[in-house]
Amino acid sequence: MTDLLVRCVNVGKTFGSGRTATVAVHGTTCDVLRGDAIAVVGPSGCGKSTLLHMLGGFELPTQGRVDWPGFAEIPAKRPGTVGFVFQAPSLINVLDVGENVALPLVLAGAEARDVELIVDAALAEVDLAGMGRRLPSELSGGQAQRVAVARVLAQRPQLILADEPTAQLDAAHGQQVMEALISVARSIGAALVVATHDLLIADLLPMRWTLADGRLTNKTGVLA
Ligand code: ADP
Repeated sequence: MTDLLVRCVNVGKTFGSGRTATVAVHGTTCDVLRGDAIAVVGPSGCGKSTLLHMLGGFELPTQGRVDWPGFAEIPAKRPGTVGFVFQAPSLINVLDVGENVALPLVLAGAEARDVELIVDAALAEVDLAGMGRRLPSELSGGQAQRVAVARVLAQRPQLILADEPTAQLDAAHGQQVMEALISVARSIGAALVVATHDLLIADLLPMRWTLADGRLTNKTGVLA
């Protein structure tokens, strides 16, 4: 099994055309390996989300190519192979916490008794054991984001993408969410890529890619 999950070669994305064209990402070359934990940093509008979406196959590039040697096909086409944590609350309000975590598994046709065990284990992993019957409206912002992390964990993806997952949280809760993400990614051997404009959050990850005006200007950190 290859350790190379994603390879981007001269990958770029332009939205629109002609005079209204916006180059979100200029030709970028980068790899994501199994076990990598990468912060993608830069100010708002520099292309972090667009790069993240292209890494997961959610957005197709308009230039260059993205390959996924670690996956059988474009990962976004296979539910569960890529976990995505959004900035905004992404829980379904009429479902309780356990049901929110269970939903992707149920949709994928998992057995009910397996789902229950997996959900309980995932909630325990993010320090929310016993909270399965709460409604999202009864949670703090930090707890809600940890439920979103548990929902990703339950699917055991090979690649976890998180787009400003702490942007709506205070520093302490942001740190807790990051710790949950990092420990979950490590425990299932997934690669983790987190887009953030917050360098304190980025410091929690061993690798850093810096974007400026859609260009990847620097890559630092542990080389696998
Ligand atoms: P970041 O995540 O760093 O804030 P984005 O990747 O969201 O940056 O955006 C990069 C640039 O691409 C911005 O100028 C943004 O306005 C533009 N952009 C992003 N998505 C779209 C879209 N769907 N249509 C048009 N322009 C977009």
